[in-house]
Amino acid sequence: MTTSCYIHIPFCDDICSYCDFCKIYKRSGQVLRYLDALEQEIKKHYRGEKLKTIYIGGGTPSCLKVEELERLFEILSLLHKEKEIEYTIECNVESITQEKLMLFSKYGINRISIGIQTVDDISIQKLNRHHTKESVLKTIELVKKMGFTNINVDFMYGFPWQTKDSFEKDLQFFLSLDVPHISTYSLILEEHTVLGNQRLTPLDEELELWMYNTIKETFSQYGYMHYEVSNFARVGYTSKHNLVYWNNEEYYGFGLGASGYVNHIRYENTRSLLKYESGNTVLESHVVTKREDMENECILGLRKLKGISKETFEKKFSMQIEDVFPIERLKQKNLLKEQDHYLFIPEDKIYISNEILLEFLD
Ligand code: SF4
Repeated sequence: MTTSCYIHIPFCDDICSYCDFCKIYKRSGQVLRYLDALEQEIKKHYRGEKLKTIYIGGGTPSCLKVEELERLFEILSLLHKEKEIEYTIECNVESITQEKLMLFSKYGINRISIGIQTVDDISIQKLNRHHTKESVLKTIELVKKMGFTNINVDFMYGFPWQTKDSFEKDLQFFLSLDVPHISTYSLILEEHTVLGNQRLTPLDEELELWMYNTIKETFSQYGYMHYEVSNFARVGYTSKHNLVYWNNEEYYGFGLGASGYVNHIRYENTRSLLKYESGNTVLESHVVTKREDMENECILGLRKLKGISKETFEKKFSMQIEDVFPIERLKQKNLLKEQDHYLFIPEDKIYISNEILLEFLD
């Protein structure tokens, strides 16, 4: 049963220097044509389930004009929603307005995710972002004033030019926003991005690890629970939608470049706007084998600090996890722990979870 849905809105007013997501410059006339194609894709593939989570991501969904957003929400009214749905939209500081927030409320959006990344002037400029400390404060105040309580902010660190001092100032500023969820990202210098092409020397690994540990310790002092490698939430505010991914559950993915997992099939949509608008939406799809499904259960599940449930694994695959993966070996090396029938990577090793997962799949 598929009860979650991701919707991709690829338009952005500006392109960030680190971005390798599926995004395009917004040009007038383009959006409504894109939304028509999105409507066709949904009508063709959605099977009518009641959804527990919807996540509108991008791109920058909030950069759409009010009338374009109205059209988007009209299309999304094709989707049946549970009463207690978690319904998220991604926004950036520059494009949030009171009018748009009112529209979000009208259509049932109850979670706002805001890309901020940093408020350090040098970093804002190098990342080609366009907010200021003051505009962030005003935006958060407005979002709260408009009645939204479930708010996420994105926090980025690990810039090649970052000092301990500028990192700590950013960290304190994010904590001062007093929002219940913070997603953290360490900057990756991806090829074919403006920063990637500058051939910068990445930040020293030890300094980056210090930043990660500082984030963990500081956020925990401020009442945030570290529940996934890079995600922190106050009690009751974990992201239900993202947990669907980490729990290896199925979800629809609609829109340019979106990926989905429906009826044992994982698929990825084309990143070509031309193909997408002509209805040729899927780029690649394959049926997930039992082995792949078991591996995904662990690769994704071990991102959660709580880990994977041995009982769920057995129920799902009619096999014991120990008979499939080298659990004992990893336990002996202290790379895995077990508590209350859950297997998890110890918190002090979660930073090297990728290396542990390689050994896990060995
Ligand atoms: S706003 Fe997001 S999607 Fe758009 S360019 Fe920046 S990082 Fe990429």
